[in-house]
Amino acid sequence: VSSVAEKFDFFYLVQQWPGSFCDTRQGCCFPDTGKPAAEFGIHGLWPNYAKCGRGRGEELASAVLGEDDIAFFSGAVGRRGKCWPEFCDDGNALSLWEVRDLVASLNRNWPTLSCKSGRSFEFWSYEWKKHGTCSNLAQHDYFARALAIKAAYNLTAILAGAGIVPSDTATYSLSSVRDAIAQGTGFTANLECNRDADGNAQLFQVCQCVDRQGKKLIDCPLSMPTKCSSDQLKLPLF
Ligand code: 5GP
Ligand code: 5GP
Repeated sequence: VSSVAEKFDFFYLVQQWPGSFCDTRQGCCFPDTGKPAAEFGIHGLWPNYAKCGRGRGEELASAVLGEDDIAFFSGAVGRRGKCWPEFCDDGNALSLWEVRDLVASLNRNWPTLSCKSGRSFEFWSYEWKKHGTCSNLAQHDYFARALAIKAAYNLTAILAGAGIVPSDTATYSLSSVRDAIAQGTGFTANLECNRDADGNAQLFQVCQCVDRQGKKLIDCPLSMPTKCSSDQLKLPLF
């Protein structure tokens, strides 16, 4: 953790649907621990500003930004400033020893699906370096809190309870997915879509908002670009 406390407002706990990661044109690879379960997996726990431009001494334009403008940012540094801190301490590499008691759970709940290496530890290390070093949390707390929140709200089960089950043919309305998550968790979340190899819109990521301590869900203070262009979404089999 860097010596200067990061001033961010909330975290996104981002979970990816493996079916939607894998059925794209790019495809996916299973990690060396084997095919993950057909459940949401963690992508990352990302510190975020509630308004763009409040980072690291850059006093900036958030006052003149409407919520609409904020939703259009997609990079850390937009024309009008920063939307989140990242890479806060490149000297602080993730240590397998620090998280050794979490590794079995991380392999199940935070598996890599990229074809880069098949080693989930490399995915965790990258997420730690990019986002975790800005979290004001020690390595073990950072990963333990992400795992604890995921475990407290089983998104796969919550969606299934609302009749939203993985299928290669069914489609679901965006609002039905959003409502199921709000009802099942008690808090609004942001949804992100992508497209399968045939161009169909599908649910890709669920971004739940978490307080600065990484302990409790909150309603999302802002909406992010959903990339959910059509109202009908798939939740593909994995
Ligand atoms: P993409 O452009 O694919 O949406 O995002 C690429 C990367 O930028 C993400 O993996 C993540 O590291 C970072 N990123 C994208 N959106 C956000 C956001 O709203 N907040 C934070 N903290 N990082 C983000
Ligand atoms: P971010 O999107 O957080 O900026 O970057 C994620 C990085 O982790 C990318 O370099 C990506 O290749 C790598 N990565 C490894 N495994 C995964 C995975 O399962 N999902 C995603 N989204 N990225 C992964």
